[in-house]
Amino acid sequence: MPHTQILDNALGAIGGTPLIRLDKIAKKEGLKCNLLGKVEFFSAGGSVKDRIAKRMVEEAEREGKLIPGQSVVIEPTSGNTGIGLALACAIKGYSVIITLPAKMSLEKEATLKALGAEVVRTPTEAAWDSPESHIGVAQTLQKAIPHAIILDQYRNVNNPLAHEYTTGPEIIDAIVSTPSTPSRPSSGKVDVFIAGAGTGGTVTGVSRALKRKHNPNCVVVAGDPQGSILAEPSSLNEQEAGQAYIVEGIGYDFIPDVLSREPGTVDHWIKTSDEDAFAAARLLIKQEGLLVGGSSGSALVAALAWLKTEEGWKDFGSVKGANVVVLLPDGIRNYMSKEWFLETTRAAPTPLAHKIHAIL
Ligand code: PMP
Repeated sequence: MPHTQILDNALGAIGGTPLIRLDKIAKKEGLKCNLLGKVEFFSAGGSVKDRIAKRMVEEAEREGKLIPGQSVVIEPTSGNTGIGLALACAIKGYSVIITLPAKMSLEKEATLKALGAEVVRTPTEAAWDSPESHIGVAQTLQKAIPHAIILDQYRNVNNPLAHEYTTGPEIIDAIVSTPSTPSRPSSGKVDVFIAGAGTGGTVTGVSRALKRKHNPNCVVVAGDPQGSILAEPSSLNEQEAGQAYIVEGIGYDFIPDVLSREPGTVDHWIKTSDEDAFAAARLLIKQEGLLVGGSSGSALVAALAWLKTEEGWKDFGSVKGANVVVLLPDGIRNYMSKEWFLETTRAAPTPLAHKIHAIL
């Protein structure tokens, strides 16, 4: 990163994503800090999960667990880890089966199939530990298929490690290498980091990189959709526990092992609604030109909500030069047919549209 030389294959184009100012949104919200987006759809497979897919495959290869032409990689996923795995396995010559809850988009299924993966849909409402869930079905298949392996993003240490070794350091590098100027003041460090949690690998790994190796005082905020149970304290989850939500890739009905519960890894949790998340995703697209997906909207909502708390506003939101980084996990490619996105095609006609109509 950046890619200035010929790459051996698409795996070299994973990660190395840009950190981009969200100036228009910051201004609209009255923020004085630098609001920055780590924009992950620029990665080869289109999401932050490419990073863990690549690392899980390469580490399994190093340990001798994968045999080209023989191994069958099976993974339960909300889609993006599957796309990253299918991409890596297409290049390396492993078969792939992805178990995917029904609510996940057709675009993800199409991308997976284009990369040569088999896709098995599972009922969205199946409890994680039931045999019908995406996790249960993956386990059933693994037992029955010779040379099948589940790399298991929910437990694999290479999930948070991929973020500790790549996502976190990239954010630090971008901030440290951007000079502070009178018109663009910068504290020179990452002051706040916000990410939504699915497996929790991103928020756990980036938090470790930031707090252990860069700025121990960095504040880490995680977003969790209403209906999920990841947030702490658990009282935050009570009201809407079990309620269905549409946003993809974040929230669960169990706590994945890779989501660290060590005190201080995540400092604050914010619950987000579908409605706010999708409005924020549309705003990122329209105002900042960033073609993000729904969970990026959730992350932005969590960021703005926390920056407007007393602590968030006093220490960061109102502070010139404070660097607040929001992780934007994937892009609109995954959701082009979803109602929340198609809504944009049905917006009330603008004055310019009226003018065009009058001319034609
Ligand atoms: N957003 C999207 C679109 C995702 O696919 C994922 C991964 N499930 C996340 C956010 C959350 O990332 P993590 O699993 O690292 O918590």
